[in-house]
Amino acid sequence: MTSSKHTRAHCNTCGGERNHGVLHSEKTSWSDDEHPISGSDEYETLKCLGCDSIELRHTSYFSEDYDGPTITYFPPAMFRQQPTWFKNLFFEIPQEDDFVEPLLQEIYVALQNNQPRLAAMGVRSLIETIMIAKTGDNGTFAKNISEFENLGYVSTLQRERMEAILEAGHAAIHRAFEPRQEDIITLLDITEHIIETVYLHKGKVDKLKKRVPAKKSKKANKVDQRG
Ligand SMILES: [Zn+2]
Repeated sequence: MTSSKHTRAHCNTCGGERNHGVLHSEKTSWSDDEHPISGSDEYETLKCLGCDSIELRHTSYFSEDYDGPTITYFPPAMFRQQPTWFKNLFFEIPQEDDFVEPLLQEIYVALQNNQPRLAAMGVRSLIETIMIAKTGDNGTFAKNISEFENLGYVSTLQRERMEAILEAGHAAIHRAFEPRQEDIITLLDITEHIIETVYLHKGKVDKLKKRVPAKKSKKANKVDQRG
């Protein structure tokens, strides 16, 4: 059943709270016979009025939960927008490196669901696997990173940042380190930058080269100036 009801809800595509049309909703309520407690579950199919994206919102209310209702979205709400190139990544990545897109997607899902340690472990795993795919396994992280730099995939500055990422991931796995949200954002910024450098810039530069007209010879320039 379609209704004309509107509500404010998070939109992943628009990247924040937007007005949504409520296409359909179902609500169930319960109360306890012996204790003064109650709750309800509401499921709504929402359509963003800005971009037409569809999502499901579950609002769970429990009388003893003083923080208010628990709201869950499917697909999960993202606190950070995916980079604009993410949807093209699948087409740009060579088949042998097809682990990149699904693993990055899992990292976003971990972030969306407030799982910073899983996100940090995922980032470490992703960076490490990209490095090994490009350099072959040289035995240790230090050697892999150094070879990755030698082959020109990262600058010295980026290599130092990668070491920090790998260290944070290692600490999350082995030393019960819980990264803060801003730590994860930093890790992800650098990771996305590396993916862009390794997989996306080459294709873009190749296309650009084809569009830029070739330089004229000196002789041809002289003729032009006279004319
Ligand atoms: Zn939207």
